[in-house]
Amino acid sequence: MIEKEKNKAEKASECLFCEIGKDPKNVIYENDVFYAQLDKFPISPGHAEIIPKRHVDSLLDLTREDWLSLQEALKETVQLIEALDFKEIYTEFLETPINNKSEWFCKKMLEHPGIDKKPDGYNFGINDGEAAGRTVHHLHIHIIPRFVGDVENPRGGVRHIIPGMGNYK
Ligand SMILES: [Zn+2]
Repeated sequence: MIEKEKNKAEKASECLFCEIGKDPKNVIYENDVFYAQLDKFPISPGHAEIIPKRHVDSLLDLTREDWLSLQEALKETVQLIEALDFKEIYTEFLETPINNKSEWFCKKMLEHPGIDKKPDGYNFGINDGEAAGRTVHHLHIHIIPRFVGDVENPRGGVRHIIPGMGNYK
């Protein structure tokens, strides 16, 4: 085995997102290539991730067939999010939080203005590479529901990942 492949295999064996997908209780949606889970450290009600079942590092490593599956996974997961009872979900998460931080995020959700609403929009986000802020090196596409009034001025959206550069007006 060449060194690069060996490293890849080693990474996959201890990869959080390879593991999470194996437990059906974490999975809210799946097709042949992807699964979806709700984030246990949510930044907005319904915050979820679409994750390839096999160990894929980067968005740029997806095949043409994967992209078709991703389209389906995104659409169907969004539909599913729109049918969720957020209050019930975060109340349940708070019964067995992963840690204090997860508990803090889930409590915040129960106070969120969108807790009993359907999302008005979405940010779809991928941190591809450590420089882009990624910590789990297995592709995951964040679905972040947005609600009118959830922040004072949403203009610029994902541009705000670089502090101070979001507002271009
Ligand atoms: Zn993995």
